[in-house]
Amino acid sequence: MTKKVRAAIFKGLGQPMEIKEYPVPEPEPGAILIKVTMANICGSDLHQWRGDIDLAASGVRLPAIIGHEMTGKVAKLGEGVSTDSAGEPLAVGDRLVYRYFNPCGRCAVCLRGEDAACSSNSRFIKPVEVPPHFTGAYADYYYLRPNQTVFKVPDDLTDEMVAPANCALSEVIYGLEKVGFGFGETVIIQGAGGLGINATAVAKEMGAHKVIVIDGITERLELAKAFGADELIHMKEHKTPKERIKRVRQLTGNRGAEVVAELVGFPEVMAEGLAMLGRGGRYLEIGNVSPGKTVDIDPALLVYSSKTIVSVLMYGPDTLKKALDFLGRTKDKYPFDKILSRTYPLEEINKAFEEQDKGLVSRSAIVM
Ligand SMILES: [Zn+2]
Ligand SMILES: [Zn+2]
Repeated sequence: MTKKVRAAIFKGLGQPMEIKEYPVPEPEPGAILIKVTMANICGSDLHQWRGDIDLAASGVRLPAIIGHEMTGKVAKLGEGVSTDSAGEPLAVGDRLVYRYFNPCGRCAVCLRGEDAACSSNSRFIKPVEVPPHFTGAYADYYYLRPNQTVFKVPDDLTDEMVAPANCALSEVIYGLEKVGFGFGETVIIQGAGGLGINATAVAKEMGAHKVIVIDGITERLELAKAFGADELIHMKEHKTPKERIKRVRQLTGNRGAEVVAELVGFPEVMAEGLAMLGRGGRYLEIGNVSPGKTVDIDPALLVYSSKTIVSVLMYGPDTLKKALDFLGRTKDKYPFDKILSRTYPLEEINKAFEEQDKGLVSRSAIVM
C-alpha cells in the first residue's frame, strides 16, 4: 500500500484548515520530492486566510494546500536530476530552497527575459485532490516540478535563516535591483515586517548611504535597527503623514530619498511614500497584494518631479541563489534567527494563523 502523509488543506473562507492524508507521489523525470522541514506564515498567506485575497474568486480551485515560504530536504530525486540549478551535486537528504512558482518559459514575457512577470507564476496554488497533491507549503512533502529553480543549502545556514529566502528575502533583493537602487543612495523602508527587515539589511549591503525605516511597533523598529537601519521613524512619535514627510526631509538634507520601498501592504501609504521621494526618485511597490483597494494619487505631481513607480510580484531565476549567498556572507552580522518569533507543529496550524492574525506573534513557522 502507498504510504500516506499529512497536508493542511484550506477549504474556503472562515473554515478551519483540516489535516488530511494523501499518498506520497513518485517524482516524474526531472522532478524532486521534498520533505518539508519548515514553512513560514507570510503576510500573503494571512491575506488569503482572512479573505483579503479571495482565492476562489481569483480562479483557485479549493481545497488546496496554501503556503509558499519554506525549506526542506531531498526525499527522492526524479530520473535525470543529479544537480541543483547552480550545478551542485544533489543527493537524498540534502537541504534545499526553491522557487515556489514556475514560469512557463515559452510566453512572450518569459522570452523577453522577464520570467518573474510570467502570468503562470501567480497560479501556483493547485487543487489538492489532483496528483501530485503536494504543491503548497503546509504539508509533510512538497512536489518540485521539473524546471522549478532549486538550490542546495550550505550546512552553516539554519532552517530559520533560509525558510524566508524563497519569498521575503528574494523579493526585496529583486525589487531593489529592479528599482535600480545604487551605491550611496538613501532608501526609506515603509513597514518593518519580514520584507522590511530583510530589505534593510540588503540595502545596507548594496551600499546604502542611509536606510530609514518607518513602522508603528517598537519591537519591529528595534529589529530593523539590528538589521542595519540608520534612522527610525516611529509612527507613535510622528503620527500623521505630514509629520513623517517632514521628518524624512530633515533626515535627507531637505532633498527626499532616492528610493522609497512600500513593504507594508496598505494602499494609503503609497501617497505618503511618493511624497517622501526626492526629484527623480523611484518608488518600489511590493507590499500591496490584496486587489480592490485603491488610493488617490495626483499623477501630475509624479510628472513634474519625474518620479517612477516600479512594482514586482515574484523574482528572477538567479535571485534565490543571490539570497543564499547573501545569508552566507552576512549571517554573523545580522540576527537572522530573530525574525522568526514562534514555531508550531502542523496540527496547530489554525492556532498559528489565529495568533499571528491577532498580532500575538509577529512571525511564525510551522515545523514538520
Ligand atoms: Zn510570501
Ligand atoms: Zn511565461
